[in-house]
Amino acid sequence: MVVIRYLLLISLVVLYSANSHVYAKKISNKSFTIVIDPGHGGHDPGAIYQKIREKDVVLNLAIRLGRYINQEMPDVKIVFTRKTDVFIPLHERAEKAIASKADLFLSLHANSCPTPSVSGTETFVLGMHKTEENLDVAKKENSVILIEDDYSTRYEGFDPNSSESYIMFDLVQEEYFDQSVTMAALVQNNFKNHAKRNDRGVKQAGFLVLRQTSMPSILVEAGYLSNEAEAQYLNSEKGQTELAKSICDAVKSYKTSYETKNDFELKSIVNEETKEDRSNEGQHAPPAETSKPEIKTELQKTAPIVEKARPKEVYYSIQLAVTHTKLELKPYNFRGLDSVYMIENNGVYKYYYAREQSFEAILKRKEEAKQHYNDAFIAAFCEGKQISVDEARALQQR
Ligand SMILES: [Zn+2]
Repeated sequence: MVVIRYLLLISLVVLYSANSHVYAKKISNKSFTIVIDPGHGGHDPGAIYQKIREKDVVLNLAIRLGRYINQEMPDVKIVFTRKTDVFIPLHERAEKAIASKADLFLSLHANSCPTPSVSGTETFVLGMHKTEENLDVAKKENSVILIEDDYSTRYEGFDPNSSESYIMFDLVQEEYFDQSVTMAALVQNNFKNHAKRNDRGVKQAGFLVLRQTSMPSILVEAGYLSNEAEAQYLNSEKGQTELAKSICDAVKSYKTSYETKNDFELKSIVNEETKEDRSNEGQHAPPAETSKPEIKTELQKTAPIVEKARPKEVYYSIQLAVTHTKLELKPYNFRGLDSVYMIENNGVYKYYYAREQSFEAILKRKEEAKQHYNDAFIAAFCEGKQISVDEARALQQR
């Protein structure tokens, strides 16, 4: 009996390995592409402190980051929105990312504010701001469109300085929200643990450049030029090296999770880490070397090979909307659609229509939903966790 069990286990492992081999091969046909977007440039200097200009700081950081990624991950394709001191309109940056079919979009900026004592790094994902402070950062970065030609037509009357313009970000349909948050959290963790920066956290706000991309996207504010010490740090060899290395390591962790399709597990670990870090506030930060192996161990623990070999329940739903305030699940709140359900995650409410196990059935439901919600799209789940539609279909074909 023991022998039979052992053989069964072996065959399950072999079966899984064979499948994962086929699947991994399918993914690796396309190389991982990353767009590095140094903000501002040309006649738009961005924030300025004495003679240190945001446009120069972020361009140097971008080029260094590109070099590190090239050294550490030579298979990654890198696209720069600019490599010289030139002005590029926001919409062109996003268009470049879409045209290159990128897997990740990183916009690099440096911050400033009227209070010189404020310092630290923060990383934004697209969403509705929770504080006026976050709105101000978005206003400042978006106001660059005012010096673009014909901005009013191009951005459909969006006024970067009016708070009312930002209401639309509360109903924004962000298919890549979870991946963007994962990447943002990895960057912030590394800034804090490797570069020893003051961690201002992962935040949401309405950045036009993030809104127009169609991939996981983040906007990094690498520090405050209005803080004298931080301005010097951002402009120094040490600062540039540490910050670029931190982002490069975050890309590496993100890419690994992308390739092993363990995004969900990685994300929940990042959340756990953040929680732990908060409770340890005031104590010494853990040494940088320990953070990566920890993630690895957790991934192995949460995704044992034999566990994955048994068939998993896969289903599809139609994602309708995302809000930051909870809506009652009544048809009048969803343009007349019924059987809408909700999933809450980190203060974000996602609303889904229908639930089907067959892909053909969900395609029909999508047509129904599309009559009410133009942006509705198919979301796939495996045992309650959201996965990509490709992955769900691959799982069903096993
Ligand atoms: Zn900026």
